[in-house]
Parts: sequence; C-alpha cells; structure tokens
Amino acid sequence: MNFPEYRPRRLRKNELFRRMVRETRLSVDNLIYPLFAAAGKNVRKEIVSMPGVYQLSVSNLVKEVREVKALGIPAVLLFGIPAKKDAVGSDARSDDGIIQTAVRAIKDAVPGILVVTDVCFCEYTDHGHCGILTMDGDVDNDATLEILAESAVTHARAGADIVAPSDMMDGRVAAIREALDAEGFAGIPIMSYAAKYASGFYGPFRDAAESAPQFGDRRSYQMDPPNIREALREVALDVREGADIVMVKPALAYLDVICRVRDAFDLPVAAYNVSGEYSIVKAGAKLGWIDGERVMMESLVAIRRAGADMILTYFAKEAAKVLAR
Ligand SMILES: [Zn+2]
Repeated sequence: MNFPEYRPRRLRKNELFRRMVRETRLSVDNLIYPLFAAAGKNVRKEIVSMPGVYQLSVSNLVKEVREVKALGIPAVLLFGIPAKKDAVGSDARSDDGIIQTAVRAIKDAVPGILVVTDVCFCEYTDHGHCGILTMDGDVDNDATLEILAESAVTHARAGADIVAPSDMMDGRVAAIREALDAEGFAGIPIMSYAAKYASGFYGPFRDAAESAPQFGDRRSYQMDPPNIREALREVALDVREGADIVMVKPALAYLDVICRVRDAFDLPVAAYNVSGEYSIVKAGAKLGWIDGERVMMESLVAIRRAGADMILTYFAKEAAKVLAR
C-alpha cells in the first residue's frame, strides 16, 4: 500500500491515536535506582558531576530508599564507599562492611523493595582496580574469583535480594553461584554485568564511588567498545555459569548490543544507563541547550525499545514522577 491509499500520518493525528498504537512502554516497573552508601554519619554529599545524586550515610540512605519505594520503584542497586581502602578490599568481604551494614538497615526499615548489591572491589581497593593485583600490576583473575564469591556471600547474609557482579573477571558467575549455593543461598539470583565495556561514559561514577584506578585503566578486563560478537560470547558464558539476569553496560552507545542480546537469549536483560549518560543530559539541560526531561524519557524508552527489561538509571526517581502524571 502506497501513498495516497496509505497515509501513516492518520495514526499520529493526536495523543489518543499515538497512545493506542505505541509499540514500547516504559513503566516504573522497569526502573532500578542506583545508590551510594557511604561510611560515616550524617553524610549527604552531592556528586558535583551528577546533580541530584548523593553519597549517603546509612540513616540518610534509609530515608532515600523510603522515598524511592514511595515512588513505586521496585528495586535499588547499592554501591559502597568504605571508610578505609586496602590492597585486597577487605571492607567488601566483611559482614560489618559498609554495604552489608547498609543492606541490613534497609531490609530492617523498608520492607517491600528489592536490594541489589554491586559485587566488585574497585570502590574498596586502594589501587582502584576491580580485584587483587599480581606483582606486575595486572588483576589476578582467579585469585579475585575467591574474594568475589566471599563478598557475594556476605551480601546475601546481610539480606541482599540479588547480587550483581560488575568486575568482568572470567568465571565469576560460576564461582559466586557455587559459593552462594554452598552457604544456603541457592535462592539468591545473580544479575551479571555480562557485557560491560571499558567506557568513557563512566567518568562521573568514579567521582561518585571514589573508584578511579590509581594507575592504568580497566581495558584488560572490561570489553573493547567496537566488539559485539564478543559481547554475545560473554553473555553466553554467564548464562552457562548460572546468571539469572544479564546486563549490558553502558546503554545508549550500546543499544545494538542490547538488541542482539535480547534476540539471542531468553533471560531477562538489564541495561545500565550510566553516569556519563545522566550527566550529559543534566549538563545540556542546565545550559538550556536541550529539554532535559524530554531527552531523559526519550533515552529511557529507547533502551526499552532496544530490548531491555530493566533499566538501572540515576533518572529513576525523576522518570517515576513523570510516569505517574
Ligand atoms: Zn569494579
């Protein structure tokens, strides 16, 4: 059917038509809100490069999670900023570490919201890399697996509903699954950062989590941005090792990866709308160069359209408010 018999504009005539034929829906159910738990008391420190996002000490964090829940957002993702860092990220494996303490406080005070915990070492090591280092400064994959598994078990013991390893070590999903099962946590799902790229879009996060590597970069473990077949291999490995949810990170520059992962696997797919993607919109809106709210909603729906079931995003609260209008 061609013009003039077929006129696509007929179904775009007004918002009622557009609503009726809309192919992709964004709902508050799709959103996960990342939060930064900081050691100390009365901490509420805004991250300069991420306006509206804060490092929060535990009691402030609990307040924030209450607010997140009241907006109908089903889950939060927790990162920890410990009081002390060392070479082997001890705080990340301690039952009294910052993230474990934060999880317990949230689970006590705010029932009815899922707590996902980030499992990694970059926020906890003094060198800022995602695991234990070898003598020549590379991350020791297999030694790191052991401490990742230990860390995940402490999160589960504290009450985490889902653990989310973000380190990109080979074999970590299997190592974590085995450790969780052995400790009686067979029911705790793993959301794996399956295809995580070495991205410039993480810049502002490193301020937020104080996790910038002190030397070198993360290209020897995170993925090279031009690769997509490798992403499918990475996801396939994690699925085989027992991942319950697979994630692509970042989101907007990798919509093709989300789309291919969606097509190739039947597990739920998550996408991380990362700090840089957030900050760019905030900065553009502040300068008056773009309509921040409109670009936010368009970005989130694009991530959904690409095939993500869940979106981890610093926009979650704002988007939930827009969706509730
Ligand atoms: Zn890391």
